[in-house]
Amino acid sequence: MDTEENKIKPVKKRYYRKRVRIFNLIDKIKLWPSRTGKLHGIRTIEIMGDTAKLTTHCNKEFLISNSLNSRAGRWLRNKWFVQVCPKCRVPDWKLEKYSSTLFKRHQGSMLLKNKD
Ligand SMILES: [Zn+2]
Repeated sequence: MDTEENKIKPVKKRYYRKRVRIFNLIDKIKLWPSRTGKLHGIRTIEIMGDTAKLTTHCNKEFLISNSLNSRAGRWLRNKWFVQVCPKCRVPDWKLEKYSSTLFKRHQGSMLLKNKD
C-alpha cells in the first residue's frame, strides 16, 4: 500500500546560518537573484573588501555589497525569484540543492575557512 512512499529518497537538507557572510554564501551556492527576479548562475565572484564583482554565466556583471540586509541577501535566504535565467543554464541539481538549503539562526555553517 505504501510502496510509493518508500521509493522517495529523502533530500539531504543543508543548514546555513542566517548571518552567514553573503559573499561566502554566493561563493558556495553560485546563484544570484537580480533585481528583476531572475536567478542567475554565478561563474566568478571577485571580492574586493566590502564589495564583490559577480560575473554570471550569461556574462552579466553585478557589483554587490556585503550587507546582510540587502535586498539580494533577503531574496537569497528566502529563495525568492521569478524565473531562472535561461541563458545561464543553471542545472537542475543545483536548483534542488538550493531549494533544500535552509537558513537558521542557531544552526548550520557560517561557511568560514572553506569548511563544510
Ligand atoms: Zn543569467
